[in-house]
Amino acid sequence: MKKKEKQAKEKPPKEKRARKKPPKEKQTKEKKTKEKRTKAKQTGTEEEEYACKWNVEHVYREIRIIADCKDCGGKGDLNESSCMNGILDAVSAEGNADVVILSHFVEKQYFSYSLELLKRMAQVMQELSQLAIRDPYKEYFLSNDKLSTSQKSQQKSACEKCELNPHGLYPDLKKTFTTDIQEFYKSLFKTAKKLDKGPTFFCGPCLDTTQSDFVYMFNNLEDLREFIFYRGYNIVI
Ligand SMILES: [Zn+2]
Ligand SMILES: [Zn+2]
Repeated sequence: MKKKEKQAKEKPPKEKRARKKPPKEKQTKEKKTKEKRTKAKQTGTEEEEYACKWNVEHVYREIRIIADCKDCGGKGDLNESSCMNGILDAVSAEGNADVVILSHFVEKQYFSYSLELLKRMAQVMQELSQLAIRDPYKEYFLSNDKLSTSQKSQQKSACEKCELNPHGLYPDLKKTFTTDIQEFYKSLFKTAKKLDKGPTFFCGPCLDTTQSDFVYMFNNLEDLREFIFYRGYNIVI
């Protein structure tokens, strides 16, 4: 891959800056409680994910997301999955936020390109959630009148067992996307390799669905990677 370095026109801002005291006329939106998120796993067991509580303040024209990290179980750091989960929820809900503040003993602020990166990551998370709800059996077979009831039920159980079924595939990918990005890419490439094996090994509808969704997802991830390289290292790829 050809890489060339591009001279930065403007330096990316530092991640942190001193927080000014909000003026008295600030408005505080109703506090959102997002302490726990419950995620249904494919196995039927439920797993709890913790996320920061956060609220939104409007200070003059600035929209601030403020996460209360003293209770979240994290340390007010985006390396902590609870903080990352909470902040990605928050930036999805408040797409126009100008600044994100992680409030712990020390406050950390994210704005400009750092915030843009969080918004792009939140978008990938939303897309992974959307892909997870696709049901290849329903899309390809349920309304097919040419198939008998027993053929349909055979296909349904094949889909349920198929390791390329989106219901099982994306929730796991989504989890590693925020907790371990290396693991995320590892599982992604492992699954992409499986796709080459073809319909002899996997159920046809799940294979078709996942093949086309992976192309879509790879394009989105490539956009994210380009953004990180350019804004983080001033490299155009
Ligand atoms: Zn937190
Ligand atoms: Zn299937």
